[in-house]
Amino acid sequence: MLCAEGYVFELERRGYIQAGSYVPEVVLERPEAVSQLHDEFVRAGTDVVVALTYYAHREKLKVIGRENDLEAINRKALQLARAAAQGGQLVAGNICNTWAYQPNDDKAAAEVRRQYTEQVGWAASEGVDFILAETIEYLGEALIALEVIKSFGLPAVINFSPIYNKSKDGHNWTEACRILSQAGADVVGYNCARGPDTLLPLGRKLREAVAGPIALVPVPYHTTAAVPSFQFLKRHDGQSAYTLGLDEHYIDRQSAAEFATAARDSGVNFIGLCCGAGPHHIRSMAEALGRTPPASKYSADFSQHGLLGTDAVVKDHEKQFLEQWC
Ligand SMILES: [Zn+2]
Repeated sequence: MLCAEGYVFELERRGYIQAGSYVPEVVLERPEAVSQLHDEFVRAGTDVVVALTYYAHREKLKVIGRENDLEAINRKALQLARAAAQGGQLVAGNICNTWAYQPNDDKAAAEVRRQYTEQVGWAASEGVDFILAETIEYLGEALIALEVIKSFGLPAVINFSPIYNKSKDGHNWTEACRILSQAGADVVGYNCARGPDTLLPLGRKLREAVAGPIALVPVPYHTTAAVPSFQFLKRHDGQSAYTLGLDEHYIDRQSAAEFATAARDSGVNFIGLCCGAGPHHIRSMAEALGRTPPASKYSADFSQHGLLGTDAVVKDHEKQFLEQWC
């Protein structure tokens, strides 16, 4: 399954979401911008349309003073996703880390459960096919997400964000995924934080430890063994690249395609790209996986290129130019 993500970064680049809070107000302010991006990802070959409810939870909306718009943002985002899934794509409700969780704190756990219950409840009533829970850093918070998703009878894809070497409640990532899988998560894995080069090794370890489907959804940036997470990448001048200076670490579409096939060949079942992904990455990944999405109509044909082309007309033109000027 191929899953396009990264709505928040892409809509920030396009001028519809503010970097910093990264709250998806765009859903209410400019819904057509969200629909446009959904359509582009569908044309590029995604199998899943993810509702833009990332960070549309109570804790984050408080930050921008829009807590009262919580249900409206969630429902509208879910409806936009459903409307975009015209080609048989699955629609995913989306929840994430709440920023409210604390280990061994019943009050915090109750607050997380309350936030997940309201978001998953709206997603269930809008008819999603499954819930994608992501960028979670505590096993404890992931287990609450799983419990809530299952209480609504929905399939659960739950991804940890491996910024550090362990979860914030001290679990080795493979172990955290194994526990989550045994607890009933339908798909477990990782999203965000790491680029393909540093996420694939974690995926291969996970493949050996878990029998069921696994997910890998890296960010489209080059990360290294020395700097495995994009949060710590630097610009050429030594300043932090995260988040607005990340472009110089951006991967191209060929690298995205190579990741897709490497992940598939490693037994990964749910393959995607997170923050920073664009439709061009997704199309190349879809094609590498053997698909011909609608946007393949305009995939590259360099035989017609003015300088690189082999087409007879193009060659004549180039020859005349060379005779005249070189
Ligand atoms: Zn991300």
